[in-house]
Amino acid sequence: VSPIKAAFIPAQKPASPPLPRQNTKTTPPSPPQIIHDEHRAIQYTRVGFLGEGGFARVYEGKDRRGNRVAIKVVTKSSLKTKKAKTKLYAEIKIHRSLEHPNIVNFGDCFEDDENVYMTLELCDAGSLMDMLRTRRRFTEPETRFFLVQLIGACNYMHSHQVIHRDLKLGNLFLDANMNIKVGDFGLAALIESPGERKKTICGTPNYIAPEVLFDTANGHSFEVDTWSIGVILYTLVVGRPPFQTKEVKEIYKRIRDNAYNFPDDKKTSQDVRNLIQSILTPDPQKRPTLLEILIHEFFTCGVVPDKIPRTAQDKAPVFK
Ligand code: ADP
Repeated sequence: VSPIKAAFIPAQKPASPPLPRQNTKTTPPSPPQIIHDEHRAIQYTRVGFLGEGGFARVYEGKDRRGNRVAIKVVTKSSLKTKKAKTKLYAEIKIHRSLEHPNIVNFGDCFEDDENVYMTLELCDAGSLMDMLRTRRRFTEPETRFFLVQLIGACNYMHSHQVIHRDLKLGNLFLDANMNIKVGDFGLAALIESPGERKKTICGTPNYIAPEVLFDTANGHSFEVDTWSIGVILYTLVVGRPPFQTKEVKEIYKRIRDNAYNFPDDKKTSQDVRNLIQSILTPDPQKRPTLLEILIHEFFTCGVVPDKIPRTAQDKAPVFK
């Protein structure tokens, strides 16, 4: 099966186990060295720190058999408000319902008196954000490889009525084989009835679709992820996001005015420029579908590697 076709093979959706019990007790700042999932009689040894996000810290852990996992820890002291709890439970409910080769696998969810823990598939090779910092920009074959995987994951989410709403380089993790794993479902939303529109303004400034910011009356839907894919595509081949500037207000103004351009250095092909332009269309209804993106000349007339070597973290690979 070609990578493009493989992107559209639906993966199985697992049954959802029950949500964790609620407990409102407060909190020491660091999780214990040995983390117990008492319910399943599993224990994890905390072996390292992986990173920190808006409300969670993520550690590397090992179970008794030596299997390595990522453990996302949220302190219960940060879950005092009903809103914070609802948000975390929505993240857990959505993330655990998804199973796809290019989505960070959700393991278990449990709690002790201080924290809520989520075990996640470990993404050894960091994120595309880390990699871009070293590499500065990616070659077009690498970009095709990552985009095919991202679009496959996104198509799967959309077919399960999930909008991610925060697709960006920092949420595209890489496993040891340099495969994309989409993570962080903290802003994801479930579309519960056909045609439902979401009204919450959320996302990350550089990647937010114009309708999220400027069409709040109408709301937004799946096409916001397509927009973010356009921003990601631009960022991978150019090396910086299209609407980037210091002031957030100015970023929003550029998004409103669709004001971006390509550097004058002939390093980006006409095919990729055309594709980016069609994705970054202000009217969400006029944006291409995920399938239309994959059958664009950028993908059909260029090399799509079937794997990326780990050395690509530091140096551009050569594809024949
Ligand atoms: P938040 O929801 O608080 O934003 P994230 O899910 O983005 O938290 O995780 C915060 C950081 O932890 C990430 O930027 C990354 O460095 C690290 N991280 C998260 N998930 C994983 C994982 N599955 N494997 C390895 N590192 C991870």
